[in-house]
Amino acid sequence: MPVTDGSVRAGSDERAPAENTNDFQVVSLYERWRKIQYLWVKGRFQSLRRFALGVLVAVFYIGPWLRWEGRQAIWLNLPERKFMFWETTFWPQDFVLLALLLVIAAFTLFVFTVAAGRLWCGFACPQTVWTLCYVWIERKIEGGRYQRIKLDQAPWTAAKFAKKGLKYLCWAVLALSVSVTFVGYFTPIEVLLREIAELTVGPWEAFAIFGLAGASFLFSGVLREQVCLHMCPYARFQSVMFDRDTLIVSYDARRGEPRGGRSRRVDPDAQGLGSCVDCGLCVRACPTGIDIRDGLQYECITCAACIDVCNGVMDKMGYAPDLIRFSSENQDEGVPKANRRLRLWSYAAVLLTVSGILVFDLATRVPLGLDIIRDRGRLYRESWDGSVENTYTLLIRNMEQHPHTYEISAEGEIPLQYSGVKRVEIEGGSQVSIPISLMSAPGAGGAPNSSVEFTVEKVGEPVRSVTKESRFLRPLESISESGSSGDA
Ligand code: SF4
Ligand code: SF4
Repeated sequence: MPVTDGSVRAGSDERAPAENTNDFQVVSLYERWRKIQYLWVKGRFQSLRRFALGVLVAVFYIGPWLRWEGRQAIWLNLPERKFMFWETTFWPQDFVLLALLLVIAAFTLFVFTVAAGRLWCGFACPQTVWTLCYVWIERKIEGGRYQRIKLDQAPWTAAKFAKKGLKYLCWAVLALSVSVTFVGYFTPIEVLLREIAELTVGPWEAFAIFGLAGASFLFSGVLREQVCLHMCPYARFQSVMFDRDTLIVSYDARRGEPRGGRSRRVDPDAQGLGSCVDCGLCVRACPTGIDIRDGLQYECITCAACIDVCNGVMDKMGYAPDLIRFSSENQDEGVPKANRRLRLWSYAAVLLTVSGILVFDLATRVPLGLDIIRDRGRLYRESWDGSVENTYTLLIRNMEQHPHTYEISAEGEIPLQYSGVKRVEIEGGSQVSIPISLMSAPGAGGAPNSSVEFTVEKVGEPVRSVTKESRFLRPLESISESGSSGDA
């Protein structure tokens, strides 16, 4: 019976026939999830895609095994807050470099998107890359698309249990290899593997390994395209970056329509047909299950599987290739490419500027850090003879990989007596904290709040030094009129 109260039943798939104007059609607000089993396509773009996948996966797995001077070359040492990349060590104080790097990554993506659309999604996004790995395993165990669909629809038998069980087991091994490798960037991979073998992994590492493995299994193995369609924010906002010359995957409707099946021997012109033989392979090859012939859709991740599969069909039919191809809106409409692509050049200008700042920052970066912490418990200490003492803690970081000796000095607006360590040796990639105190003479003049500069200088070549300013505080009553400034 048709629904007559005018309501829409959410979550229902019922459809009432709209036979006359008084009938209602019940439209579901929620689409039931249907598993997409897509074809494993061969072709020019798929070879390129799989090559990119191989390179990215290899870089990911090899990364933690690279060595540099007896330690892991890439080591994000969170407990000690040191981030080591070969010769260089970054500290939380280098946060500005990380911020610049993130801005560069974002604008590289923007430039790439305006110029080449969603190529990132199809060819380099980790979700797509890992999904392809999981699908490859599934295909090896369960067979091609039609065998997989048949297996999914078949009743649960011992053979189905065995195939599904083996697939999930292999997926679990892949997921664990991903998570262990990832954690290996934070805990040296050799130590981590030894801890795993001896079952002595710490709670946080165990949590990270199982949590990440679960996420990889779920997102790339089970949910796959659902992540791209419903969870990825980038898919939602990237269309605002597109212009009419952005590279997109599109179907040449002028050439393809009217579509229709025919034999190879039939002349399509004589039959009034376009080049599309309506074989549906482009839809079956699509990992997001869309029909590119319906036009540009946000679900398209630009994987180019439909291009390759359609070119195969065109080849068999003896037609020209590229019925589905990389093009742009202007190209589709026969409009010449615009010279002034304001959005593209604006993003590129920001990218170049920020990259320049980062390069300059890195080139002029002194691998020596100094932070000065004043004694917060007491601003100053006054002696019976009128002298005033301020205490400080100097945090000195050797950001190089080798031990070095450093000299410490202080120079104030008023004469100050230095008390504490003047020469210190610091291991490579380490930080030491040195307590020192400065004392003003009884009755010394000058302001009650005067400047003092601390300098830490490396002994030997190349010359490196860093200077930072702090304050020297005294009570007003300790200051005489006859003060003068000078070295500490
Ligand atoms: S693969 Fe090509 S020929 Fe086949 S339906 Fe798609 S567009 Fe038409
Ligand atoms: S429409 Fe083509 S390019 Fe887009 S996701 Fe589907 S197969 Fe890939």
